Amino acid sequence: MENREKICLEIIDTAHKLMEKHLLAGTWGNISCKIAKNLYAITPSGKGYANLMLDDIVIIDENSCVLNGDKIPSSESRMHTAIYTACPEAKAIIHMHSTYASALAAMRKPVPAIIEDIVQIIGGRVECAAYELPGTQELADNAVAALNNRRAALLANHGAVCFGKSLEDALLAAEILEKASHIAVICESCNGAVELSSEDMAIMHNFYTEHYQKRQLGEE
Ligand code: 13P
Ligand code: ZN
Repeated sequence: MENREKICLEIIDTAHKLMEKHLLAGTWGNISCKIAKNLYAITPSGKGYANLMLDDIVIIDENSCVLNGDKIPSSESRMHTAIYTACPEAKAIIHMHSTYASALAAMRKPVPAIIEDIVQIIGGRVECAAYELPGTQELADNAVAALNNRRAALLANHGAVCFGKSLEDALLAAEILEKASHIAVICESCNGAVELSSEDMAIMHNFYTEHYQKRQLGEE
């Protein structure tokens, strides 16, 4: 099977997994994957994820110009391509309107660095991008600024975005981000949580990048 086709099938599979995990509902949220330099596959705009077909996936270039078929690419294509351009390590991106990440985004608060797994994969807090309307270049620019070389950000009054080395890795980041947001919302409604020291954040993140992620990928 051609690499491009394999990636499109993987995007559909990731969409189904995100639905099963209640991280995608309706047609909101979008998924993309890098195929090659300046070439990306992305979910179509406004199409339900349950019935996605191979030729629904849109191929775009780094300027979000469509290179195949007649489907409209995700309205957040510019955010996806801006992240690929700014973060060369990004190979797959998930944007979601999941409940707890969106709750923090509505409060315009970051996901605090309070639990091991999120600190391992992010290296600190997940910042909340300044508000802009969905689908705009300004939202894309604010998302890149909030990422600040990390792999996840919240989007004020909207949702969250995260990336990974692969679709599987991005899916893991999405799950952990939503779980950390859930914990933060619980803590927010009680007396608040204690944030970790920056030294401990650095130790945990370093352990993740040097060892733990390699174990997850079967490389160590
Ligand atoms: P699309 O259906 O165009 O991908 O848009 C959904 C969304 O999340 C907009 O922010
Ligand atoms: Zn959205």
